[in-house]
Amino acid sequence: MTGTDNQSCPVCNSPDTDIFLDRRNVPVHQNLLMPDRDAARAIRRGDLRLAYCENCGFIFNTSFDPEKLSYSSDYDNNQSYSSVFHEYINDLVRGLIDARGVKNSRIVEIGCGKGYFLQKLVEDPAAGNTGIGFDPSYIGPLSCCNGRLQFQQSNFGPGMEHIPADVVICRHVIEHIPEPVVFLRSIRAALENNPHARIFFETPCVRWILENNVIWDFFYEHCSYFFANSLLAAFSRAGFCIEGIVPIFNGQYLWIEASLKETPAFTDPDGICGMARDYARDEERMLDSCSNEIIRRADVGGVALWGAAAKGVTFANLVDPDCRFVSCVVDINPNKQGHYVPGTGHPIVGPGDLARFGIRSVILMNPNYYDEVCMQLRKERIEAAVIDPARGEHCS
Ligand SMILES: [Zn+2]
Repeated sequence: MTGTDNQSCPVCNSPDTDIFLDRRNVPVHQNLLMPDRDAARAIRRGDLRLAYCENCGFIFNTSFDPEKLSYSSDYDNNQSYSSVFHEYINDLVRGLIDARGVKNSRIVEIGCGKGYFLQKLVEDPAAGNTGIGFDPSYIGPLSCCNGRLQFQQSNFGPGMEHIPADVVICRHVIEHIPEPVVFLRSIRAALENNPHARIFFETPCVRWILENNVIWDFFYEHCSYFFANSLLAAFSRAGFCIEGIVPIFNGQYLWIEASLKETPAFTDPDGICGMARDYARDEERMLDSCSNEIIRRADVGGVALWGAAAKGVTFANLVDPDCRFVSCVVDINPNKQGHYVPGTGHPIVGPGDLARFGIRSVILMNPNYYDEVCMQLRKERIEAAVIDPARGEHCS
């Protein structure tokens, strides 16, 4: 599929970009709490028209309009109810403190949310860290841990040059930013008095999405999709030097370490353009196959999706937009239960409600949670097949 309204690449300015995914009128939010079915179906919508850059491999939504989004108090992407997620966060924190030596450091976290991650880095008395979390949507006390942890309800950027920073952390933010180089440059400028700062970023890996045909991992809130090469391009254009990029969370995310040193030039796009073209060819087949599987399973018993976050909400909107085949969507976050899926209006329920829906099939939206989901099903005495739609594996 070739776009007629090609835009130049926001990372490298190349005019050679090509649209490979085109979905009109998708819900703009995946994690907004919708109080009833009508509100859920009436959610604001926008177009997802993803292009890849042939020069650097950056993938971006050419139709993104940030004005459509509002990250209000109804926005809930809290994943901390999952023990798998806890373990993952703890591993990241231990990795920073023990392996990367983040000790006795003044830490700045950009987009700190409720401050959960930063608190873990600061509260370990042996590490001796202090922290300042920045997030315009932060709600909570502005100081805790005896003043060693502070929060500012603002962005980190120009005007913050006086803030000492040995370590800067920014997790799951840059994929929401339509002009990532501008964003990185503003961080770089705010660090001018901290030339030795170490910078750590985390973002989803688009290579994982493309390789596994995860059609429900492209959605409106994410307007920028990276892999190693486009990260190198973006960071180097902003004046950072990438010291390392490693895949984490079974390849779903990338962990980036950067410094403020001079940077070498970046290399070729590393096959991502070919992968995006393959994805465009395979997407319809993948969607058909998922839809057929759901229809077939709905014929013999209730079907539930597991996970009402971005992946599950996107999947529901793709395979069952009119709420005909999927009975409900399960989420262990109690704040989501009793609400409805943005766009489709599927009810969001807890594991304890599954028996009521006669569920025989559970579609797992993230394979990393497989063991945890099976355990919850056993606990509720639900006998259901657990299906990973990306691999078509069925496990009971
Ligand atoms: Zn580019």
